[in-house]
Amino acid sequence: MTSLSAFSKFTSTLQEDGALMPVLFIGHGTPMNGIEDNEFSQKWKSLAKEIPTPKAVLVVSAHWLSKGTRITAMDFPKTIHDFGGFPQELFDVQYKAPGDPALAKETASLFTSTDVELDHDWGLDHGAWTVVRHMYPEASIPVLQLSIDYTKGPQYHYDLAKELTQLRRKGVLIMGSGNMVHNLRMVAWDRLDDKEYGYDWAIQMNDTFKDLISKGHHDKLIHYEKLGKEALLSIPTPEHYWPLLYTLGLKGNQDDVSFFNDKIVGGSLTMTSVKIG
Ligand code: ZN
Repeated sequence: MTSLSAFSKFTSTLQEDGALMPVLFIGHGTPMNGIEDNEFSQKWKSLAKEIPTPKAVLVVSAHWLSKGTRITAMDFPKTIHDFGGFPQELFDVQYKAPGDPALAKETASLFTSTDVELDHDWGLDHGAWTVVRHMYPEASIPVLQLSIDYTKGPQYHYDLAKELTQLRRKGVLIMGSGNMVHNLRMVAWDRLDDKEYGYDWAIQMNDTFKDLISKGHHDKLIHYEKLGKEALLSIPTPEHYWPLLYTLGLKGNQDDVSFFNDKIVGGSLTMTSVKIG
């Protein structure tokens, strides 16, 4: 018995000290990416095969804002079709990944700076399921969402993410889902298929974001409003940018940073995505 308990202690230590899961920021773009087989969704698929298979996925989506921070804690999160004006085929999608109430509770208890509420009403919004269904089409890996407290500022979100660091050692894939440059009012709808087209300010900010992320200048990214008018055009409202701050907050000193889906859609929306670790 002694050797058995020593062995089980050894294996649980292995799980705790295993390789760190990477952290992702995904530019999710239009909900249509949820059903389209295109360059973006193909990358999501191939990425899932490149990284270790997670025990669970925790998504911080631009589309779940709440007062206070919440985490989904139901056994079976529903698929939320939180958009309008799209084909029926998109509304018909049901992504039936399970939740993980025990992990939700454990995750909520990791936070020391705020009380995180267990949520039984939300589910998976399109910031989560349109991406994750391409990555894990069998829907066998539990998916949870963490909401974004819209009453707080960027520094708060960046700092809050750090309290999730332990999850990376436990095989949880943490994923911010938004868009760095996201100005829907200025989308050039007639140029959606021209992936080379971008407004000058959008191209400039895309380069600036990548440069600051590569160099680890997170302070400048937190105080993005000081980056000039290009930044304000890129981030007219912050909800699609905040998920990036959760991703960056989880970067450790040893982590590599790389980019993928580095494209501009309709001139004013970037799909540029980040892999940390
Ligand atoms: Zn969105």
